[in-house]
Amino acid sequence: MWQAMWQAISNGSSRLAPASARRTLALAALIWLAGAPGVADELLEVGFAHVDITPEVSQDQPVWLAGYYPGRSATGVHDPLYARCVVLKSGAQKLAWVSLDLIGLQFPDVQCVRAQLQDFCYVLVASTHNHEGPDVIGAWGRTFLQRGVDDAYVQTVVVRTAQAVRQAEQNLRAVRAWYGTAADASLLNDTRLPVVKDGVLRLLRFTGLEDNVVSGLVVQWNCHPETLGAENRLITADFPASTVAALSRQYGCPVVYFTGAIGGLIAPPRKRVHNERGELLGEGDFEFARCYGEEVAQLAMRAEQSAVAVRLTPWQVSAARIGIPVTNELYRWGRLLGVLRRDAYAWNGADAPLGEPLRAVRAESISAIETEVACLQLGDVYLVAVPGELYPELVCGPVPDPAEPGADYPHAPIEPLVCDLLPGKKWLLFGLANDEIGYIMPRRQWDREPPYAYGLSAPQYGEINSCGPDVAPVLMQALQGRVTALQNP
Ligand SMILES: [Zn+2]
Repeated sequence: MWQAMWQAISNGSSRLAPASARRTLALAALIWLAGAPGVADELLEVGFAHVDITPEVSQDQPVWLAGYYPGRSATGVHDPLYARCVVLKSGAQKLAWVSLDLIGLQFPDVQCVRAQLQDFCYVLVASTHNHEGPDVIGAWGRTFLQRGVDDAYVQTVVVRTAQAVRQAEQNLRAVRAWYGTAADASLLNDTRLPVVKDGVLRLLRFTGLEDNVVSGLVVQWNCHPETLGAENRLITADFPASTVAALSRQYGCPVVYFTGAIGGLIAPPRKRVHNERGELLGEGDFEFARCYGEEVAQLAMRAEQSAVAVRLTPWQVSAARIGIPVTNELYRWGRLLGVLRRDAYAWNGADAPLGEPLRAVRAESISAIETEVACLQLGDVYLVAVPGELYPELVCGPVPDPAEPGADYPHAPIEPLVCDLLPGKKWLLFGLANDEIGYIMPRRQWDREPPYAYGLSAPQYGEINSCGPDVAPVLMQALQGRVTALQNP
């Protein structure tokens, strides 16, 4: 599979802050405090909105669909793509969380969204990792050698995402917050050994302070939107559209769906989902997208029924811009060919600031891209924002110990796990948050060189869509730093 075929590096012009300012920021923690710690029950207001981001499909200009392989142009629209947004307000402080029905909006584009929302203390723009929407990264143009992004479309997404946030702000109303979970790992298929899944759906429910009626839901579930498969040519938001529709019908309220830890590779289940007539459904069928999405909605209803009241104020936001070293040769070639456009920097190690922007990536040097990792504390609940496809092994484990014989780095230390890092049990994890840097794989599961783990005769799929074996150590270390900063503000 060629999904998430990446990011990385290019000479494209920077839309970020000037390079000097950016280098100062690299690796620096940005921490905001909202609401004085210890002041309980600050009034919480929440508003929802969604804005259509479906591209126009015309004869004149093909829309290249992201995921699987290049050359897949859209022939029409099955269902619209949306930017779905929730805004939270406490006192004078505002947060925005947006979910896009896209493969993965890139960090420089997220910065453009934020530039329009400077009155917010934090704006999080995540993608569902939809494989049936337009290319916004570059890897899926007419051929492997051609960029698949329509820059004007990405600009439209940036503008409409900011519009969605402003509309949600118009809809603010006082609420109580509730947190619930429900688990069903049978709704996931792990296509890479070892089989490790995050089978927990996590949910926030908001109810009106006055009327106690459900006013909105935030749902996090952990599966690649791949029910339609590689042959589909109709634009669709895949199963999350069905999940959102079913929950909106049930509760009569807006719903924002976020994708969690899906690396490694977590896909919809096989031989598991049936329609109302009892017929077994499979990949490539819109009926499968609908019925699987509705099963996920059923799981969300279980989470909703188990939800307990939580305090969501005061807030602390701890976000850091970090460098990620890129050793993936495909990404380097993508940059050389202009298929991928992303600024590259000299890499000086995880503990050093990013170096100068690189005009050309020399073969002997390791280059890096800039991305962001964040942890938010909202009263009783934590939110972890990871800029790519996290392997579920890094959520609550287990990472194989000892390492599987044949792995390339069997003595690599196990990275800090999300479950162990967070001081509380109530949390959400948004993957592809503010960026899509590809797979984030435990270093000791990296396996490019023979002999291969599990006695396999060929390497498993995964490394080809990762920046490199050092991504997880660097990123999880940075996340640990964010959590520590929250505890010692
Ligand atoms: Zn993927």
